[in-house]
Amino acid sequence: MSEVLKGIAASDGVAVAKAYLLVQPDLSFETVTVENTDNEEARLDAALAASQGELQAIRDKAVSSLGEEAASVFDAHLMVLSDPEMIGQIKETIRAKKTNAEHALKEVTDMFITLFENMDDNPYMQERAADIRDVAKRVLANLLGVKLPSPAMINEEVVVIAHDLTPSDTAQLDRKFVKAFITNIGGRTSHSAIMARTLEIPAVLGTNNITELVKDGQLLAVNGITGEVVIEPSEETQEEFHKAGEAYKALKAEWEQLKDAKTETADGKHFELAANIGTPKDVVGANDNGAEAIGLYRTEFLYMDSQDFPTEDEQYEAYKAVLEGMNGKPVVVRTMDIGGDKELPYFDLPKEMNPFLGYRALRISLSEKGDGMFRTQIRALLRASVHGKLRIMFPMVALLTEFRAAKKVFDEEKANLLNEGVSVADDIQVGIMIEIPAAAMLADQFAKEVDFFSIGTNDLIQYTMAADRMNEQVSYLYQPYNPSILRLINNVIKAAHAEGKWAGMCGEMAGDQIAVPLLVGMGLDEFSMSATSVLKTRSLMKKLDTKQMEELANKALTETSTMEEVVALVNEYVPEIQ
Ligand code: PEP
Ligand code: MG
Repeated sequence: MSEVLKGIAASDGVAVAKAYLLVQPDLSFETVTVENTDNEEARLDAALAASQGELQAIRDKAVSSLGEEAASVFDAHLMVLSDPEMIGQIKETIRAKKTNAEHALKEVTDMFITLFENMDDNPYMQERAADIRDVAKRVLANLLGVKLPSPAMINEEVVVIAHDLTPSDTAQLDRKFVKAFITNIGGRTSHSAIMARTLEIPAVLGTNNITELVKDGQLLAVNGITGEVVIEPSEETQEEFHKAGEAYKALKAEWEQLKDAKTETADGKHFELAANIGTPKDVVGANDNGAEAIGLYRTEFLYMDSQDFPTEDEQYEAYKAVLEGMNGKPVVVRTMDIGGDKELPYFDLPKEMNPFLGYRALRISLSEKGDGMFRTQIRALLRASVHGKLRIMFPMVALLTEFRAAKKVFDEEKANLLNEGVSVADDIQVGIMIEIPAAAMLADQFAKEVDFFSIGTNDLIQYTMAADRMNEQVSYLYQPYNPSILRLINNVIKAAHAEGKWAGMCGEMAGDQIAVPLLVGMGLDEFSMSATSVLKTRSLMKKLDTKQMEELANKALTETSTMEEVVALVNEYVPEIQ
């Protein structure tokens, strides 16, 4: 009997494939006294050998799909596995305490982890602690006879099921085999959703308990457009899903015709359609989808995919690659937005009650601890600026003084580079993201000093509604069409225009088909979205008349009080939106 459930539709597309459970198994064990310590040592040796075989296979796969450098983390793991001192101590503990291998392994590795972690400000040692933790988990799993999931090793078509997917989990998923993914938590604007759209993998998030409902290998039908998931679908349901998948492909083929077309409304007004990217590799997708610019390059992925702080030269190469890849089209690079749900293993961030309201993004960059990191990034950006049309923006700005402090670092580093004889472009625009209501309210003041705004609605909505964007229990409060949000956005656009500046949007709302007519009506200049939404939006814009959209926006701003009323109004003005 098939079971149907509904989650949050997070990335378009349809798939029917077997489930692959990416969940951590239970690794609990009991401590027991043993007489035959030789037997425990033999069990340990067998578990070490099995772990070595697994890690070697994962490493080989990582080399072929991600390159030598990305695979280096597994070399460190293999080294831990063959560390004679640690293994000697585990065996010694088995003999001395007459205890089982599981307990001895845990006791000794915990001691090493604590030792390394206490070597405070040394990122190298912190990493060693993380390596030992990972390896100990694998050996323990082998001792207990349970399997650890390894997404990089997937080699058949599957639907990945997980509680949540971190950006690095998501990056390991191979598009060839991973046909969709479904998670317990997360919403349309969580980073796993954004990654899914970049990779064009259909995704349904926020199902609450999919990991409990589905067993490894069970057949699933997934629709990332409607959020529907069917466990063990009948032949008939499978057929229905296949048809929906075909219909979606046909629509995509239609949109693809617009790849080289201008973005114009029915009355001939141009709006800039840009793509959001996370790595230089995503530039290919942006160009393939006909993006006219990069409206948001989330540089924190450069830090997250690295074993240590990326150097100035490494960053320079990445920024240069993006600028050159876009061939003179504008590229808006956001300085790093670490914190919130984005952690760095080598950067010791405090554990906070409310990380989304805490020490993150520009707040880190402007603190003593983050100053060096921030200056390195600004220098790398300035050096890369000669390779294209660079725009820089700062995330999470609440205060005008924060913008001024960040701009001062930009000016200082620019002067330093020029003194060193390094060329820097002289037309770099410097702007801010508007994602904190305080900045949206004071946009008229900011507009006098910045070159542009880019509205980050993913955060702006979470902060305006006081609703965590990662929490599916409150996901109903993610209301991009709520009149309160529309008024804030309108305020920002009008404030920018009053000072002759441009206003863009790089939150997910910019590619939302209900929101686009309203934003056109409010006069938003630039729309930046997942590359895969660009052509769909270009197709929609061709159907809109700006005068009519202005009327629609005015009505929405002044005559509605709920999101539902706004949606009804949009449907009345633009009945063809699906
Ligand atoms: C936003 O907040 O809307 C945004 C674009 O930034 P991020 O999703 O990376 O927080
Ligand atoms: Mg944000």
